[in-house]
Amino acid sequence: MLQGKVAIVTGGTRGIGYEIVHKFLENKAKVILFGTRRETVEKAVTTLKEENPSFEVMGLYPNLNREEELRAAFEEVIRKYGKIDILVNNAGVSSKTPFTEYTSEEYDKIMDINVRAVYMCSRAIVDYMKERGGVILNTSSFVSIYGQPSGVMYPASKYAVNGMTKSLARELGKYGIRVNAVAPGIIETDMVRALPKEMIDPLVATIPLGRIGRVEDIANAFLFLASDLASYITGIVLPVDGAAMN
Ligand code: NAD
Repeated sequence: MLQGKVAIVTGGTRGIGYEIVHKFLENKAKVILFGTRRETVEKAVTTLKEENPSFEVMGLYPNLNREEELRAAFEEVIRKYGKIDILVNNAGVSSKTPFTEYTSEEYDKIMDINVRAVYMCSRAIVDYMKERGGVILNTSSFVSIYGQPSGVMYPASKYAVNGMTKSLARELGKYGIRVNAVAPGIIETDMVRALPKEMIDPLVATIPLGRIGRVEDIANAFLFLASDLASYITGIVLPVDGAAMN
């Protein structure tokens, strides 16, 4: 579905981002995964290459809040692969801190990665995409629709992601740039897998589809939105949550 496409995925070293990278590679894209540290980036690339030596994958670790580093990384990708078609802004951090215990450091940490990095990566790529079109996809969350009982800046940051998604779709549509987001529900990543059964079972009981989401469920939605099958879809926040909370 992505033959001939070049895609960048931030936060691609583990969890949902890693599965997006994997799914895009299986669908014949060339993929550049971004991570925070050289070691984790190299480990992810090595694991993917071991699984399938024909996967065209490389890794970089620019600071997602530094425009010069991002522009240099994007230029490196264009030098190597000739172009960039798809940017997936997936890197993110969550929060469960009660409001009265919030510090400005935590506020900044969440907003820097969940909001500022989405803005910075999009800002650094759009001058390029304006010339030839492209796809920008963001990872939101179902809590951006429903809120959550603590950790207020996490849903607030994802509301901001939804706002950027819808507004940039309207502003950039005329350049052939599509902008969409996927809002995952509760997804079985390492963090969720580590939770005790007593905590998981009551959560599952609230989900109409009767199970927690898998990383593949989310990656499939990204694959569709990245592909030309979604060529008339822009400005949406697609819930992939088994109708949790509905
Ligand atoms: P994860 O912690 O497994 O992965 C997060 C990724 O973001 C990692 O690759 C990490 O390197 C990267 N990252 C974190 N801080 C960074 C920074 N400062 N600079 C650069 N990269 C950084 O988490 P995940 O569950 O795979 O989450 C991926 C995305 O999905 C996030 O945006 C998260 O908010 C969202 N999400 C997750 C769930 C879930 O249930 N797991 C649900 C809804 C939304």
